[in-house]
Amino acid sequence: MLLVTVCRTLDQESGEVHEVHCSRERSRAAWNIIEEYLMPFLERERYQISSKCRLHPDNDLFRDQEQHKIYVDISEWRCAYCKKRFRAEKFLDQHFDSRHYNLLNVSHSKCLADLCGALHCDFVMNSKSSKSKCNPAAVARNRHLCESVANSCFPINEGPSASRLHELFLRQFCDAHTCPGKRKLFPKGGKKEPGIFYLAMSILSLMLLPLFYLIVYLYQREMRRGTQELRRIPQAGRKTKPS
Ligand SMILES: [Zn+2]
Repeated sequence: MLLVTVCRTLDQESGEVHEVHCSRERSRAAWNIIEEYLMPFLERERYQISSKCRLHPDNDLFRDQEQHKIYVDISEWRCAYCKKRFRAEKFLDQHFDSRHYNLLNVSHSKCLADLCGALHCDFVMNSKSSKSKCNPAAVARNRHLCESVANSCFPINEGPSASRLHELFLRQFCDAHTCPGKRKLFPKGGKKEPGIFYLAMSILSLMLLPLFYLIVYLYQREMRRGTQELRRIPQAGRKTKPS
């Protein structure tokens, strides 16, 4: 079975039905996984993936539309093509499907969601629980797909960066395609989340700042007292001295 979902979208104005044989939701999940668990390593190696690689943004049918989403706040999304506002992302998705259908790159049938088997989209989309029974045939197919992506995106004969990333891709995505699926997914980690670390650091510095000033104040007071006493000693000495 191919991992293809049929999405029917109804154009409200014309009543026309467009058929796109690619799931927007799954494509987005695949993209998020690539962003999270692969991009940091590509950036570190300063590696440019070729357009022949199925992970390249050009091979994601929905990429252009996804990049034309403007997130204002939790209850406001905007379409960057026509500036129309929406209460939720799903309404913007529906708007793209009906009003900007012509902007989908459908001619090349490049569906990122087709890589979902290799990239473990189900695991990520089902809030990280994989309790379904392991199917050896499906696992073997996904592993094969995963390895073919590694070969086409990071050809080992293209230098040290490509071979390092080839190795990383196998560890990060392909190793977990085993039965039973006990292997850890994305063992190499993903984007570092600076949020909590920075928050802790700022709270700590805010707490330490008054303490620092207190120490400086006490130190200076001690210094002042010290110089006063030093001044007093010779004065006292002078008084006792018989003249
Ligand atoms: Zn629009």
